[in-house]
Amino acid sequence: STPGGPKAREEKIVVTVRLRPLNKREQLAKDQVSWECIDDHTIVYKPPPHERVTQPASFTFDKVFGPACLTETVYDGVKNVALSALNGINATIFAYGQTSSGKTYTMRGITEKAVNDIYNHIMNTPERDFTIRISGLEIYNENVKDLLNSDSGRSLKLLDDPEKGTVVEKLVEETANGSQHLRQLINICEAQRQVGETTLNDTSSRSHQIIRLNFVDLAGSERASQTHADGARLREGCHINLSLMTLTTVIRKLSVGKRSGHIPYRDSKLTRILQHSLGGNARTAIICTLSPALSHCEQSRNTLFFATRAK
Ligand code: ADP
Ligand code: MG
Repeated sequence: STPGGPKAREEKIVVTVRLRPLNKREQLAKDQVSWECIDDHTIVYKPPPHERVTQPASFTFDKVFGPACLTETVYDGVKNVALSALNGINATIFAYGQTSSGKTYTMRGITEKAVNDIYNHIMNTPERDFTIRISGLEIYNENVKDLLNSDSGRSLKLLDDPEKGTVVEKLVEETANGSQHLRQLINICEAQRQVGETTLNDTSSRSHQIIRLNFVDLAGSERASQTHADGARLREGCHINLSLMTLTTVIRKLSVGKRSGHIPYRDSKLTRILQHSLGGNARTAIICTLSPALSHCEQSRNTLFFATRAK
C-alpha cells in the first residue's frame, strides 16, 4: 500500500508504531536502546555487540514514529480515522503495548488533539447543529465501571438492544456544552480510571446521524501473554486479560478481511461493547507503543508481532 496515499485512507485498520525515548529509570539503570526507526515505515532491532540475532529484526508499518516525534505528529497519522467519525463512521483508536510503553501518554495527547479538531469542525459547519455526548467506562477483570458515575458500584450489565446492538445498562452519558466542558468531563473519567476508555457521541439534529468515536487505552499487553496461562499462576491472581486476548483474536481475523464467518466478539466485554465500532461501517487505528530498552526487548518484539498480524 502507499502509506498516506488514497489507498491508505480507505484501509479499515491503520497500524502505526511509536517508539518512546529511554526514561529516567532506564537511563539510570544504564539500559541500552535496542530499537531504531530507520525511516517513516521501518523499525529495526539493534542487537547489543556480539549477540547473534535469530529473530526477525526489521518490521514495516503504515507509519513508525521515533523517540523525537511529538504526539502531534503521531496524531497526524491517525487523524483521518478520528475525523471519519464526523462522516458517520464508527471510529476507534487503540493504544496497544506493554505497561510503561507510553499508551496513556499517547492517548491523552491524541484525545486532546481530536477534541480540538472536532470543535473546529463544528465551528466551521454552522449550518448543522451538533450534540456531543460523552461516556466513559473501564473494563477491569471483565467488570464494567462507569467513569462518570463514581457510585455505579458493581459491574454494569451489557444488554442486547435490537437497534443499537450491545449497550451498557445505566451508563451515564453527559452532554458537553463546548470544548472546555468536554475536557472537564474527560478529566473526570481520567481521575476515575485505572484502565479506561472513552466514547464520544455526536449527533447532528438535522440528519439524525449518530457518530461515535472511541479512544481506547488498553491494559498492558503483557497481560495477553499466554505463557503465564498455567494453573498455578492463575491461582496466584496473575490473570490473563480476557478482553485483551479476545481483542487480539478479533483484530487478527478482521485484518485478514474475514468479515463473514465467526468473529468471537461475544467472548469478552471489550469486544462486545466495540463490536459495531470494529466490524461493519467502521475504521480503526492502532498505535503500538514500545519502550526502546534492551531489558524490554521481548515484550517489544511481542508488540511488533501483534502489530504485524493486525496490518
Ligand atoms: P502505559 O500507559 O503504557 O503504561 P505511560 O503512558 O504511563 O505508559 O508512560 C510511562 C512513562 O513514560 C510516563 O512517565 C510517560 O510520561 C513517559 N512517556 C511515555 N511515552 C513518552 C514519550 N513518547 N515521550 C516522553 N515520555 C514518554
Ligand atoms: Mg497507562
